[in-house]
Amino acid sequence: MFNLQMVDLKRQYEKIKPEIDAAIQNVINTTAFIGGPDVQEFGKEIAQYIGVKHAIPCANGTDALQIALMALDVKPGDEVITTSFTYIATVEVMALLRLKPIFVDVDADTFTMNIDALKKAITPNTKAIVPVHLYGQSANMEAVLAIANEHNIPVIEDNAQAIGGSYTFSDGRTVKNGSMGLISCTSFFPSKNLGCYGDGGAMFTNDDALAEKLKMIANHGQKVRYYHEMVGCNSRLDSIQAAVLRIKLKHLDEYCDARRAVADYYDNAFKGNTHIVTPFRAAYSKHVFHQYTLQLKGVNRDQVQALLAERKIPSMIYYPVPCHKQNMLKEFGGADFVLPTTDMLQDCVISLPIHTEFTTEELNFITTNFLEVIAQLAK
Ligand SMILES: *Cc1c(COP(=O)(O)O)cnc(C)c1O
Repeated sequence: MFNLQMVDLKRQYEKIKPEIDAAIQNVINTTAFIGGPDVQEFGKEIAQYIGVKHAIPCANGTDALQIALMALDVKPGDEVITTSFTYIATVEVMALLRLKPIFVDVDADTFTMNIDALKKAITPNTKAIVPVHLYGQSANMEAVLAIANEHNIPVIEDNAQAIGGSYTFSDGRTVKNGSMGLISCTSFFPSKNLGCYGDGGAMFTNDDALAEKLKMIANHGQKVRYYHEMVGCNSRLDSIQAAVLRIKLKHLDEYCDARRAVADYYDNAFKGNTHIVTPFRAAYSKHVFHQYTLQLKGVNRDQVQALLAERKIPSMIYYPVPCHKQNMLKEFGGADFVLPTTDMLQDCVISLPIHTEFTTEELNFITTNFLEVIAQLAK
């Protein structure tokens, strides 16, 4: 029997164990636990990888989003446009800063921000747009940026799920996700495409002054030690995580390829099945499959999950309740938004295991059993 998991970090670690162990031991030997050379070097290396001038490491992806918004000098009541079909962190930081999240619907194919809805949602109070590259599929950034530029509104990319992916503009220019917004944010949570062995995150920008400000906010609002210019927070990437990330960054492209190969295998196995809508890959981008998320049609999702579980195949619903329907956002008027595509997707999506370490035998087991379960329930 296989021991299938949504993400297999153990087998990935075993392949890079000597390097990782040595890097962690080195941090311990030098006791540079906070702000050590690995943090500085990782910052430079990831900035170069993404193709931006500045990377500012921080404690996690949620902090990255919060600090990015703080750097825009937003005030309570300011509006920020984003999608409801995302992880709560995207929106929670807005609520924390007493901003008003303005939810727009997503496209049913890419699961990302619908451009007509974005256009309609803009008001004189819109202070930022936060597109989310969900499941590894980039949002339609060319259109988002065009609208944002027209209205002079900053864009913060939530790139927590799509690091390593890229976007091709209509003029042929190809850039990495995380290099397009005024600021972009990512997470190094262990299960993310570039994950560390604890918590971690980063912000990216090409703007020198903004980079200084982001760094300052992440460090108690100080540039010079003990002289605090503004209210900030304490958000650091620790050295052990940076040391792990420096090694894993070298493997990121190969990890993204491995994820795409799993997605290809699934796509191929499920092709033509009328109960399964396989994930769409927009021509403008390179999908990095943080998740492999299907839409189920004409079969009961709870029953699919239960039968898969009997066969020891894990599956997940990302996310069972969209942000606008979360109790957390009641006082922010979340429930006032009408988002039919988001609601439709919330009822029918299911994510299958995807990671960098699958064998063909395991994938064959998953797809064969998944198709059997679907056939059984479709009768
Ligand atoms: C994971 C994630 C975050 C938050 O990252 P953490 O490191 O867990 O704080 C934000 N947005 C999205 C879309 C995510 O998937």
